[in-house]
Amino acid sequence: MESLHCLRCNRELEPGHKSVAVYMFAQTVGIRPRQKSAAQRICFCPQCSVSLAMGPPPEGALNTAAWNMIRDLVGSDPALTEAAWDNLRGVVGLLPATGTDGGSGRNSGGYFEF
Ligand SMILES: [Zn+2]
Repeated sequence: MESLHCLRCNRELEPGHKSVAVYMFAQTVGIRPRQKSAAQRICFCPQCSVSLAMGPPPEGALNTAAWNMIRDLVGSDPALTEAAWDNLRGVVGLLPATGTDGGSGRNSGGYFEF
């Protein structure tokens, strides 16, 4: 898997990280043989998605079309905004990779017991 970067801020988006992907391809219509371009995948991190959606419409028909799609996603569910919020606060980096609640580390120091 090639690494992906946010189109707007160039932040690296690792596979499985929260992001918005815009897929785009072109194909001929009414012309034989039908031709189809390779599909492009354009990614935005949650912060940029929310920022774009909240901002004014961009210049250009294609940009406006993508902006409308992102606005649709951001506006229909708060999950993306929450992901941007989490990234902003660095919560994602602080969370343990696996669940660590439970007894194993309870007496391993750092805690006072009364
Ligand atoms: Zn970004």
